[in-house]
Amino acid sequence: MLQDLSDMERKAYELIKKHGRKGIYQNDLWRTLGINSREASRIVAKLLKKNLITRKPGVNRGRKTYLLIVIPESRRKKIIRRREIPKPRIDIRPFLDIPCVKCPYINKCYTGGFYDPTRCTWMEEWLDEQTRALE
Ligand code: SF4
Repeated sequence: MLQDLSDMERKAYELIKKHGRKGIYQNDLWRTLGINSREASRIVAKLLKKNLITRKPGVNRGRKTYLLIVIPESRRKKIIRRREIPKPRIDIRPFLDIPCVKCPYINKCYTGGFYDPTRCTWMEEWLDEQTRALE
């Protein structure tokens, strides 16, 4: 992972790591490395993307900046593993047979009307079926 970093990116990472849990403010990082804030932002973005560091908004020397903290190896592996787990997709199939989809009275159906979803037996039956299926 570190082998993909440029010399300056690696220097920045080592400097952040050196500050341990206390971290280092981004505006101190670029001053210490002798680079400008724009270059520092690019480096920080890369280290964040690689899950090497984390950041928290903070104020240093009267300026809004970020506190940069290295992510320990053990936590980094958990973060990467979590990202690799596919997100569950919502199964919409059960909702496709909701009676309203095929109901010829859908345009006349409203609360308090002759066709009323709160008193609809088709809807009631469908909901009962769904509830039974969950049991
Ligand atoms: S609530 Fe009942 S009447 Fe209204 S559209 Fe749905 S199935 Fe038809």
